[in-house]
Amino acid sequence: MTRAQLEAFFESLGDKKFRAQQVLKWIHHQGVADIEQMTNLGKNLRQQLLEIAEVRPPEIVSQQDSEDGTRKWAIRVDGGGLVETVLIPDGNRATLCVSSQVGCSLDCSFCSTGKQGFQRDLSAAEIIGQVWLAIDSYDAFQSGKGRVVTNVVLMGMGEPLLNFDNVVSAMDLMLEDLAYGISKRRVTLSTSGVVPALDKLAEVSEVSLAISLHAPNDALRNTLVPINKKYPIAVLLNSARNYLGKQTDNKRVVTVEYTLIAGINDQPEHARELVELLRDFPCKINLIPFNSFPQSGYQRPSGNAVSRFWKVLVDAGFVVTVRTTRGDDISAACGQLVGEVVDRTRRSERYQRAQTQVVEVVG
Ligand code: SF4
Repeated sequence: MTRAQLEAFFESLGDKKFRAQQVLKWIHHQGVADIEQMTNLGKNLRQQLLEIAEVRPPEIVSQQDSEDGTRKWAIRVDGGGLVETVLIPDGNRATLCVSSQVGCSLDCSFCSTGKQGFQRDLSAAEIIGQVWLAIDSYDAFQSGKGRVVTNVVLMGMGEPLLNFDNVVSAMDLMLEDLAYGISKRRVTLSTSGVVPALDKLAEVSEVSLAISLHAPNDALRNTLVPINKKYPIAVLLNSARNYLGKQTDNKRVVTVEYTLIAGINDQPEHARELVELLRDFPCKINLIPFNSFPQSGYQRPSGNAVSRFWKVLVDAGFVVTVRTTRGDDISAACGQLVGEVVDRTRRSERYQRAQTQVVEVVG
């Protein structure tokens, strides 16, 4: 619950609004998940909360640590689905990549999550629970070790704008001083282009925006990001520009994400086309060399192809970053870990079925 929702909740119990502040601090500042330990609430209220409320940490199925410091979790949510969360430390920053849905319905052709299909939206609790989990994992609620999470990107599994209300509530808690107090510039929502929801977001949120472009023209983008057939590039860029226009801070730009896939969208002519497309668009460009996974059917581009592409953009005056690969040894590309956990489970189910068949044959 957001602060406003918690205040309404306590008022509905006939209690005071300020209980919301106390509970928010217990959960999100102190990392306390046991209502009994919230000692400033009074015994009767605690008893009442124990009967009607729940504070439940996420269930970790797997945690992996990369040699480069990246830590990745697979989390089981109610109903049995799996999502993943990744923390990527980098100097003074540590960026947490959170998921917003179990699977995804948008079926981008290069995406491991898309191949797993869509199961359901995550609740606001399941989204903010990923931030809680990351901090708790480093034992940093109590120890005051400093900020474990300085930045959050909604770039994990799922399309955040297709889970609008829950994502907005979770982002509210990310920004809320009584919860995580992260600045709006350091929370980034990344969308593949759900334009009506982006227009709606512009009315209620000031977080940073990233768009997953991946192609310089509609014909190519239709094949990589199918939602482009519904909301083509020009419509998406227009909506993103409108989003910026609604911000109080007029120095902001949109991050354009462009996954480079060998032989598909990584040629110099694609770069030149991108230059023309984005010439007057306030943006910085993030190039992401494709992270291959089994059955993707695509290849990672060579270092030369990446540099060539980068140079065309830089020479045209764009600010361009190339995402360095992190957590290679732990399959940190979006959706990969869950893919592996599911594969392991399936292998083990196949193994058990095979064992049963052997027993049946022997019997
Ligand atoms: S890239 Fe994003 S929007 Fe596309 S299928 Fe994957 S998770 Fe969904």
